[in-house]
Amino acid sequence: MSIRFEDLRLAPELMKAINDAGFEHPTPIQEHAIPLLLQGSDLIGQAQTGTGKTAAFALSILQSLVPERKIQALILVPTRELALQVVAEFRELGKYCPHRVLAVYGGEDIQRQIGPLRDGVDIVVATPGRIMDHLERRTIKLDHVKMVVLDEADRMLDMGFIDDVKDILKHTPKNKQTALFSATMPSTIIDLARTNMVQPEVVKTSEDKTTAENIRQHYVAVDGKDKLAAICTILSERKPSLTIIFARTKRGADNLHFALRDKGFDNVCLHGDLTQSRRERSMDAFRSGHKAILVATDIAARGLDVDDIELVVNYNLPDEPEVYVHRIGRTARAGKKGDAISFITNVMEKRELMQMVTRSQSTIEELVLKIDPEFRKFTPRQHHGEEGDRLERHGGHGGSRGGPSGHSRGYRGSSGGGYGGGRSGGRPSYGAPRSHGGTSHGGGRPGFRRTGFGHGQSTR
Ligand code: AMP
Repeated sequence: MSIRFEDLRLAPELMKAINDAGFEHPTPIQEHAIPLLLQGSDLIGQAQTGTGKTAAFALSILQSLVPERKIQALILVPTRELALQVVAEFRELGKYCPHRVLAVYGGEDIQRQIGPLRDGVDIVVATPGRIMDHLERRTIKLDHVKMVVLDEADRMLDMGFIDDVKDILKHTPKNKQTALFSATMPSTIIDLARTNMVQPEVVKTSEDKTTAENIRQHYVAVDGKDKLAAICTILSERKPSLTIIFARTKRGADNLHFALRDKGFDNVCLHGDLTQSRRERSMDAFRSGHKAILVATDIAARGLDVDDIELVVNYNLPDEPEVYVHRIGRTARAGKKGDAISFITNVMEKRELMQMVTRSQSTIEELVLKIDPEFRKFTPRQHHGEEGDRLERHGGHGGSRGGPSGHSRGYRGSSGGGYGGGRSGGRPSYGAPRSHGGTSHGGGRPGFRRTGFGHGQSTR
C-alpha cells in the first residue's frame, strides 16, 4: 500500500497547498527523499523529470527553514526555464508559507535581481553562471546557506557548468546539507558527490521503466524528404492535444517551426538562440494550450514541466540513448497514457532506435502511415515576423549550448548519406514511391527548404 502525505508529517500549511495542487499520494522519490532530507541527511537522488523530485526537495526545504530573509537554501539548475519552473513549484507549495523565493538566471537584467537580493530572500533557485556573476559583483552572500540542491546535475555537467558549481559550493558553509538529483550518474557527478557530501543516502527511482510502460511507442519508417508530409499527416489525422516535436538542432527546429506554419499548423518553437522573452512567450503559449504544438531542441525543452502532453514526436532521433527516455517521458506523466512516435529514415536509425527502446526495457511497434499527398505539395514560404527575434550571440549562462556537437556522428551529417531524396550513401532508405517526391517538390524550387537537418554549424 502506498503511503500518504499525512505519514510524512508535513506542516499544515504544506498539507493545504499539497491538497490544493491535487497531489493525492507522494511519488516514490518523495516517499523516500522527504524523510531523509528532513532528518538532515545528504542525499543523492537518481531521478529524472516527471518523478516529483522538485516537490520532494521543495517540501523538505519549506518545512525545515525558518524565514530569516537571508539565503538559506540554494538550488542550482541547468537552465532558466527550469529555474522558473522550480520557483513556480516552490510558490505553489509554499503559498501558505512566508518564505521568499527568487529565480536568479542569466538572460534577465541583473539589476532586477540585485534589488530583491538586497531586500532579502530565503530561497534562491539559480543557474550557476549568474550566481558566479553575482559573487563577482558581491551582490549575493551565501554564508547563511543551510541547504544546497544540485538539480539535474548531469545536465549541468553536459552544459559545462560543473566548474562553476564547484566554485559556488566553495562559497557556502561547510556544514550545510547537500542534495544532488541527476538522471544519470557519470563519474564526474559521483566525484562531485564524494567530495561535497557526508555519507549521502541514495534514493533511486525506477521511473525509466514505469514511465516507458505507460507510453505507446511507435516508429514511422519514412523517406527523408517525406518527413514534413508525414508529421503533417499525423497532426491532421490525430489532432493531438499538447504535442512536442523534437528536432536535433536549433536550425532544424526553426525550419520545422516555419514549415509547419506554412502548412497551417500553428506552433511555437523553443531553442537556445531565441531571446529570453520569445522563449517565455513560447512556453506560456504552449503551457496554456493556446498553441498546442511545440517544436523544440533537447536542451531547450529540458525540464519543461507541462503535464497532459499527449504526443511526443522524435522528428530526429536523439544522439544519446538516455535522451530518448527523457523525451518520451514528457508524455504519460502521473500515471496517464501517452504516445511517442519516432521517425527513422534508414536502417542505421532503426537499429539505434531499437537499442534505445531495449534500454528503456519497453517495446515499440511500427506505425504504417499513409501520407496525405496534399502535404507533399510545395507550400510557398510565408512571412513570419518573429524571425529576427533572436539573441545576437548566444551569450549569457544557463540556456544555450554551442560547439560542434552536431558533427559528433558522421553518418548524420552531410557526409554520411543514407537519407532519402536521392543521396547515395549506400544505405537503403525508407520511403514512399519515388513518383510522389519527384512530382510534388519539382526539384530546386526557390524557397523550398529541407527540414530537420542542420548542415553546417549545427548546434542544439
Ligand atoms: P518533477 O519531477 O519535479 O518535474 O514533477 C513532475 C510533475 O509532477 C510536476 O507537475 C509536479 O507538480 C507533479 N507532482 C509532483 N508531486 C506529485 C504528486 N505527489 N502527485 C501528483 N503530481 C505530482
